Amino acid sequence: MKNAIKHISAAALLFVFIIGVPAHVSAQKKTDKGAAAAPSTFGNANSINATELRDWLTFIASDELEGRDTPSKGLDIAARYIASHLANWGIQPGAGEGTYFQRFPLTKTKIDTAATSLQVNGENFNYGKDFYSSLTAANISGASLVFAGNGWVVKSKNIDPYAGLNVKDKIVIVVNSLPKGVTFGDLKGPVGGDWQSPPYYAQQNGAKAVIAFSTFGNMASWDATIYGQSDKGVVSYGSQKPQITIPTLTVSPRVLTNIFLDEKFSAAALFNKTITGDAFESFELKPEKRVSATVATKSETVYTQNVVGILEGSDPVLKKEYVAIGAHYDHVGMNPFFNGPDKIWNGADDDGSGTVGVMSIAKAFAESPTKPKRSILFIWHAGEEKGLWGSEYFTENPTVPMTSIVTQLNVDMIGRYQNPGDENHPQNKELPKQDEIYLIGSRMMSTELGDLSDSVNKSFLNLKFNFRYDDPNDPEQFFYRSDHFNYARRGVPIIFYMDGSHADYHRVTDTVDKINFNSMEKVAKTIYATGWELSNRAVRPKVDKPLPASVIGSN
Ligand SMILES: [Zn+2]
Repeated sequence: MKNAIKHISAAALLFVFIIGVPAHVSAQKKTDKGAAAAPSTFGNANSINATELRDWLTFIASDELEGRDTPSKGLDIAARYIASHLANWGIQPGAGEGTYFQRFPLTKTKIDTAATSLQVNGENFNYGKDFYSSLTAANISGASLVFAGNGWVVKSKNIDPYAGLNVKDKIVIVVNSLPKGVTFGDLKGPVGGDWQSPPYYAQQNGAKAVIAFSTFGNMASWDATIYGQSDKGVVSYGSQKPQITIPTLTVSPRVLTNIFLDEKFSAAALFNKTITGDAFESFELKPEKRVSATVATKSETVYTQNVVGILEGSDPVLKKEYVAIGAHYDHVGMNPFFNGPDKIWNGADDDGSGTVGVMSIAKAFAESPTKPKRSILFIWHAGEEKGLWGSEYFTENPTVPMTSIVTQLNVDMIGRYQNPGDENHPQNKELPKQDEIYLIGSRMMSTELGDLSDSVNKSFLNLKFNFRYDDPNDPEQFFYRSDHFNYARRGVPIIFYMDGSHADYHRVTDTVDKINFNSMEKVAKTIYATGWELSNRAVRPKVDKPLPASVIGSN
């Protein structure tokens, strides 16, 4: 599952953070129509077992795959691993032209370190040693400087550090923190409305660049940042232009000392105010003080892939329709300069659990003595963590008609359940209990799908379906945070199965040893049974509640 960065994205740029939003319970009433007249077993559901789930996840979440970043060799190896299992089970390639791999292009951009430079008052500073920059090419010659404190404008709090300052054609220097008394939770609505970040304000008002003081955090992760920008590079998908096109340069104390030499306040005095919390005074630096900077970037096209398999249905007519069952097999990778002994985000739960969960469902379908009537499309998406790229690409370039997909079942994080003590743990207390799982979307677009999902569960393992996050307006925004969203926005009814969030979410500690394979097995069986029922019902679930534009337009 990807991070919640819905409202504050490009504008925040180097001001990276995670918004912690309190989760309010919004339990949704579900009326259950009682047990269906279906049998108490569904196809080959009971062949799914914890042993295989553990075996496969031990590989998928291993250090050797280096956190399955998009794109990476680790992700490519995971793709081959999944595809070779599909071939063994007799599931056909589903990406077209006889392949399991739906390849798609990405753009990788790096700082061209040799061509990137900074000059303050005639003294040269080196990229990587004295400063780093956002990946925004620029060539600035002899700009004058203004200091604007924290640099954030927050109208509702009457904060405007730019009053009386003209930043046009200048470089804006800010300390890299929010103004005193302001939290990220206070930044309501989109950037440019009630609030403006320093780079946003600077760009809107004609400034050439932002120079940011290094925080302790910037300094602690200095080498990791340089690695990400100039060695590994930053990968983007599609042709979306960044919102901010002026660079933000994060500079060392050495550069700052030089900049503020003989000014109203020294760099040290200003830095100390970030610790004491004293208010800043904005001011123009001496007119003879000038900064020149060149930020050079270089880009190349690189490729990654979704993994797609198809099991053809047995009914001559219904086999032209598909039940799509998917997970994302990517995670957030590794960083050799990360502080701490562990440098690899294993992503056992996120979404190794969904990856092997869908493998187990695929195997059970393929080896069932009775074949499903509709076809099943199994898909493992790449690039989910970067912004739902794989599902965006597949739904824009589907290998079967989108209108033939009767439902998409998305499995993202089904491996973690409450252990004893977790009910009191601040970050683990929302994990599902044993025999419980969160569902999103089952009744959002199709009443019939919701009824089917509930009745299958009632007559099978009777897990507790928890619907507390099942609302596009839920503060956690889970509905927007995984691949099903790209299917839903194109009219396909979906069900999203997940365990929510926990203390190891997007940390190097999301590892196999913490996975509860017995609970996961039950959830995988339930998803299989739901897919089985969807593939055999005479009529596909009717979409009686299309999503409003306010939901579809969001991302
Ligand atoms: Zn994630």
